[in-house]
This record gives sequence, C-alpha cells and structure tokens, in this order.
Amino acid sequence: MPPAASLLDPLRNIVGAKNVLTSKEDLLTYAFDGTAALSQMPGCVVFASDTQQIRAILLLANETRTAVVTRGSGTGLSGGSLPSPDCIVLCTVKMNRILEIDRANLTLLAEPGVTTLAIADAAAAAGLFYPPDPGSMKISTIGGNVAENSGGLRGLKYGITRNYVMGLEVVLPDGEILWTGNKCVKDVAGYSLRDLFIGSEGTLGVLSKILLKLIPKPAAKKTMVATFAAMDAAAQCVSDIIAAQIIPCTMEFLDRTTIHCVEDYAKVGLPLDCEALLLMETDGHPAAVADEAALMESLARKAGALEVRVAKNDTEANQLATARRSAFSALARLAPTTILEDATVPRSELAKMIRFVDAIAKKYRLRIGTFGHMGDGNLHPTFLTDERNKEEMHRVHEAFKEIFDEAIRLGGTITGEHGVGLAKKDFLPKFAGDAQMRVMRELRRALDPNGILNPGKMFS
Ligand SMILES: Cc1cc2nc3c(=O)[nH]c(=O)nc-3n(C[C@H](O)[C@H](O)[C@H](O)COP(=O)(O)OP(=O)(O)OC[C@H]3O[C@@H](n4cnc5c(N)ncnc54)[C@H](O)[C@@H]3O)c2cc1C
Repeated sequence: MPPAASLLDPLRNIVGAKNVLTSKEDLLTYAFDGTAALSQMPGCVVFASDTQQIRAILLLANETRTAVVTRGSGTGLSGGSLPSPDCIVLCTVKMNRILEIDRANLTLLAEPGVTTLAIADAAAAAGLFYPPDPGSMKISTIGGNVAENSGGLRGLKYGITRNYVMGLEVVLPDGEILWTGNKCVKDVAGYSLRDLFIGSEGTLGVLSKILLKLIPKPAAKKTMVATFAAMDAAAQCVSDIIAAQIIPCTMEFLDRTTIHCVEDYAKVGLPLDCEALLLMETDGHPAAVADEAALMESLARKAGALEVRVAKNDTEANQLATARRSAFSALARLAPTTILEDATVPRSELAKMIRFVDAIAKKYRLRIGTFGHMGDGNLHPTFLTDERNKEEMHRVHEAFKEIFDEAIRLGGTITGEHGVGLAKKDFLPKFAGDAQMRVMRELRRALDPNGILNPGKMFS
C-alpha cells in the first residue's frame, strides 16, 4: 500500500492543515493503543470534523489504495486502533457533539467522538439513563464502544453496548454513506446491518453518527462489598443470588493480588484479609432494592462471606465502584508491562476457570492478578510482566494459549468485550471455525474489496 505521506496535500485540503499531524513527536503518541507490547508508526494522523470529511478521506484512500485505521481515544485492549505501517490514522475525537436528545422516543444521537461519560452525563441531565459503563468510560469514545461492542460493570442486568444501539450512520470504504436502524422499537425490514457494524472493529466502515436508546433512571440503588476466604465461595454466592432470581446490576470480583493493589492505589478501606472480594449493586424501585439487598446480604453470609459491608451513602458507593474501575491502572503500577486478557466462560464454569488461571500462573512462573465481571463470566487475568524479557514473554504467550484453549473447552470465548484486533487474531479461527471464518472474510471483501480499512486486524 502507498505511504500516507504522498497524500498530505489532498488530506490538508479536506480537513485543513492544522488537522493533519505529521511530525515524529506527534505521530509517536498515536503509535499505540491501550494494548501492551504493540506499537507501529502511522504515516499521518487526520482529525475529521464531520461525515463529509470522513467520506472525502475514504474516497481518497480507496482510490489510492491507502490503509486507514479509525481511532477514537485509543484505549482499546486488543490493538484495534494500532496503526498499520504508514497508514492514515483517522481520528474521530473532534466529532464530539451530542446532536439530539429525544425525550418522546428516549433516544440520543451523537457523533462518534463523544466520550462514554459525556453520553451518560447528558442522559442523566435529561433525567434518563445510559447503562453501558466500561471501566474506561471517562475517556473512551462512543464510536470505539460501538466498534468494540464494549461491556461494563452493569452488563449483567442491563446488557452491553449492542443493546443500546438503535441506528448508525456509516461511511463505507468507497465513500458511500449508509443509515441503518431508526427510532422504531420494532423494525424487521431487511438484514440487520446495524448489528453487523456493531463490534466490527473498524474493518467494515467508519461510524459517523450513533443513535442510542436511553432508559428511565433507576430510582434507588444499594452497593455492598462481600469478602471470602476462597474464590469458590464467592462463585457460589454469585450462583445462589442468581438462582434466587435476583439480577444485580453489578457483580464484580477481585482476587487477592488485585484487592491489595487497588487498596494501595485507591485507599477506600477495602478489607485485605481475604482471597476474593465481590462488589455487588442492585438498583430499581426503592422497595425492590431494599428487599434484594437484604436477600443478597443473607445469601453472601450463607455462602461463607467473612464480611459484608453495605455502602452507607452514594459517596461510599461511588468510591467502591471507582476502586473497582481502577483495577487495571492499579495493577499496571506493579510491572513495566501489563497485559490484560478477557477470556470469558459460562457463569457456571467461572470458579473452574479462575482455578485454571491460578494453576497456569504457577506452571509458567508468572504474576497474574485476576478481576472481572463475575456475573457475566468475564475474567480479566492480568499478566504483570516486562516486554523486554524475551524469555518471560515466551512463557506469557504459552500461558495465553492454554487459557484461551481452556475457555473454549469450557464453552466460553476468547474475548468477552475487548475484541479480536491484532492481539487475538491467531486464536479466532480455532474459536470461530471454518464456516464462520469464510462468511466473515466474504462479508469484509464485499464491503471493502480493496482492503483499506484496518488491514490485518481481526483476520488477514
Ligand atoms: C483502563 C481501561 C479499562 C477498560 N475497561 C473496559 C471495560 O470495562 N469494558 C470494555 O468493553 N472495554 C474496556 N476497555 C477497553 C476500551 O476502553 C474499549 O474497547 C473502548 O470501547 C475503546 O474505545 P476508544 O474510543 O478508545 O476506541 P479505540 O481504542 O480508539 O478503537 C477501538 C476499535 O474501534 C475502532 N473504532 C473507533 N472508532 C471508530 C469509528 N468511529 N468507526 C469505526 N471504527 C471505530 C478502531 O479502529 C479500533 O478497532 C478498557 C480499557 C482501559 C484502558
């Protein structure tokens, strides 16, 4: 593919000179995303400010067969927005306007560069609720969330980004602009192309507008923390709560390593004398919340909780949720390289999978802190390592292989929310199988015959 450097003048004509970065110092900060041990210099970075500019950039790139990597905030954890060599990085962060909140239809229309937090805040200001809350929500963009189909701490009860996308404006690689979906709650006309673009990781088109569903704000919530002497007891507690037909909005766990790191980092007074900690939250009508919280507390005690602490007020509840959100950053302070994985298994297999990760850490002599969305079976084994130590990195990769193989064997998946990108692409064929791989390849070829969008990501 030709280097983006040969297109600088036409790109400046499209977006204005100040919106094209070319100096080495500027490009360095776009040479990586949130994924450890991956970096690659782009040819240039271009900031688009509207759909027509995206269209013009893609027309130019398609004509000249130049690679384009779309980028939101670059917080991705699978290398999705890692540049390909000399590509155009098409950055959406300047498209950061909320275009409409429709109270009659409970929808919000946004440009792709709006942060997830700004979406949640705008919904709250209108007395409404946008539930998906990835740990990165302060900085991740809604475009990145849709492209990765991101989950969050409230996924168990409220679902993931896909459940809130009602419509999309997409610029296709040949510059054609497509609208899929609308404000109708019911719409079965034709294939659901909207669903195809959700989770497509920047490989099929550039999302230029996003229509989201909002819901009424829950009137009350209660947050509690339960600690356990063994991870199995915490897993049992989760099963018992769900068997009692309570679907809490949050059910997050931290293992011993992570608890200590988080407390050291966030200083919120987490109990330290335990092997596992569950952060649980129920929300809804105040009476239902009171009943559910009382039952959750008693089920936790029955499952052998060492301590159950109910947050006294919103401030304490927010502190506990923030502490959980800081797990990755807290672990990242311990080692030069932090590799966060997200193998996911059916909930019933979670305790088995956690034990397996522990055994793998011992087998390969690695430090792994594990936390994650226990109610969703979504684990984040986090490898604390050093990418300069080649011998240790070899062991890390061997450990990954075994963890993903085990997740697949238990009926799970190689990624619950971070996407395939570059980091998991070698594992996708085994997980997806021949027929799915063939259909995915043909779909991609049909939409992007010249292969300009995010080449080499997800699959070659
Ligand atoms: C501390 C931390 C915590 C995290 N917690 C979570 C979590 O709880 N849940 C979770 O799911 N993820 C989590 N993540 C991962 C990450 O934040 C999400 O994947 C997020 O959705 C990425 O958004 P972004 O704007 O940074 O996208 P980027 O990283 O810039 O891009 C991600 C992918 O989306 C594509 N893309 C971006 N914008 C567009 C667009 N407009 N059109 C087409 N394609 C586009 C890119 O090409 C790339 O493939 C976390 C990351 C960090 C660093």
